[in-house]
Amino acid sequence: MNKHHIYNKKTIEDVVYSDGIGIHSGKVSKIRLLPADLNSGIVFISKKHGMKSPIKVCPENVSDTKNAISLSNGKWQISTIEHLLSFFYIFGISDIIVEVEGDEIPIYDGSINPIIDIFSEKKFYIFEELNEPIQIINPIWIFEGDKFILVIPSEEPMISYTIHYNHPVIKTQFAHFSLEKDVFIKEIAPARTYTFLKDISYLHKNSLGLGGSLNNTLLISDDSYLNEPRFEDECVRHKILDFIGDIALLGKPVIGHFIISKSGHTLDLNFIKKIKEIYSTIDIGNKIDFMKKASTKI
Ligand SMILES: [Zn+2]
Repeated sequence: MNKHHIYNKKTIEDVVYSDGIGIHSGKVSKIRLLPADLNSGIVFISKKHGMKSPIKVCPENVSDTKNAISLSNGKWQISTIEHLLSFFYIFGISDIIVEVEGDEIPIYDGSINPIIDIFSEKKFYIFEELNEPIQIINPIWIFEGDKFILVIPSEEPMISYTIHYNHPVIKTQFAHFSLEKDVFIKEIAPARTYTFLKDISYLHKNSLGLGGSLNNTLLISDDSYLNEPRFEDECVRHKILDFIGDIALLGKPVIGHFIISKSGHTLDLNFIKKIKEIYSTIDIGNKIDFMKKASTKI
């Protein structure tokens, strides 16, 4: 393994406040990000009626994968966490508390750029402990119809993603990136949520997308974009952003090459559970031995 991809655990130094509209609820949510103790992981705290209820980020606490990832502790639920989680994952923030007043994380401009801007002047606290990654040592895959996710061993964390729509503008989009911070900031973070105009009435009937607008969504009619795309292939880039957020549910970085076609949150979650199951049974001693061997290659 390339030691370049192993980082120390990290939290934030100061409290960060932010607010914005939720894309599905259409209501304003306030969030407060707080430093956390080493090994406490990423914890959301739902604040309602003067009460607080913690929900730990892990695949087992996912309560809904329809249109967004929701987490629940059986009592309260917090939705649309995936964009914020993608930021934590790429910036290596392993331990943090996210207090939420509202039902979901704000959508901001549909991308994660505004959070990156907020953090551009904030400091992180680096712990001495390493955030030991899951190094993929054998291929793992999952498929459902023509959708699939495969991860193969790789010295660098990478992602290759394909989407296809029977649509004159989108057609097939393919993107391939290294999962590095600089690449994320430039190529992935600005990509916004996208929606088809024809789906809006269905979404609204199901109380979804109530906060959606041209200010936070790339809107697509039957034959064109209704607002200016930030990239020619913005849709597939946003799918990558979502996937990174879903992988963050594991609570550990993964070093491997993800090859994905037309996935969504539900398949992502099943895949993540598979990785967790496989890697929780690998003997720690063997894993360290493997890492030592792999690191001698560089
Ligand atoms: Zn998204």
